[in-house]
Amino acid sequence: MSFDALGLCDGLQKAITEQGYTEPSEIQLQAIPAVLNQRDLMAVAQTGTGKTAGFTLPVLQRLSVEADAKAHQLRALILIPTRELAAQVAQSVVNYSAHLPLRCSAVYGGVRIESQVTELQQGVDVLVATPGRLLDLYRQQAVNFDHLEILVLDEADRMLELGFIDDIRHIQSLLPLKRQTLMFSATLSKGIKSLVDGMLNDPQYIEV
Ligand code: AMP
Repeated sequence: MSFDALGLCDGLQKAITEQGYTEPSEIQLQAIPAVLNQRDLMAVAQTGTGKTAGFTLPVLQRLSVEADAKAHQLRALILIPTRELAAQVAQSVVNYSAHLPLRCSAVYGGVRIESQVTELQQGVDVLVATPGRLLDLYRQQAVNFDHLEILVLDEADRMLELGFIDDIRHIQSLLPLKRQTLMFSATLSKGIKSLVDGMLNDPQYIEV
C-alpha cells in the first residue's frame, strides 16, 4: 500500500517524498487511520519501526485541517523521556511539517530555560518536551495548555523506568479533558496498563 491511500494532505505527501519514504511501515499503516479517526491509541512498537512518523504525520494532518496560520497556539504536546530523543523527535516533526503553516519547538533540560521561554512566547503549534522541563516552564507561566487537542506519550515504558510517573500525572491534570491521547511503548507491562486506564479513553490497541 502507498502513502496516497492514507488521506494525508499534499504538504505532508511532499515531505514524505523528500524523506525518501515510498511506502508506509506496518505501524504507520495501522496508526495513521486510527489517529485521523480521532481515536485514543495504545501502540506497542519498538524504536526502528517508524513509530515517530506513525504519530507525527496524522497529528500534523489533524492540526493542518484547521490551521490558523497566525495564532500558533499549543495544540499538540509530545512527551518524551530524554533530551536526546526529544531533539530527535523534534527534528522529525520539523521535517514532516516543512510545507505546513505550523510551528514546532522542543524543550528539555540541560540547556538554559530563557531561550525556550522566548521561543514559546513567539507561539508554537506542536511542542516536544521532557516532563521535568515542561513543568518548570509551566511554573514560569511560559506555556499554556488551554488549546491543547492532542497529547502523545512516546516511550511510555522508559518514562516509568526513569521515574516520571508523578510528573506525567501532574501534566495530565493540567490538560483539557476533551483531547485525543496517543501512547507508545515497547512493552505492555502492568505499569503501562494502569497508565492506559488512567489516561486513555476507549483506546484502539495496536501491536507490531
Ligand atoms: P523510528 O522508529 O520512528 O525511530 O524510525 C526509524 C527510522 O525509519 C527513521 O530513520 C525514519 O526516518 C525511518 N522511516 C520512518 N518511516 C519510514 C518509511 N515509511 N519508509 C522508510 N523509512 C522510514
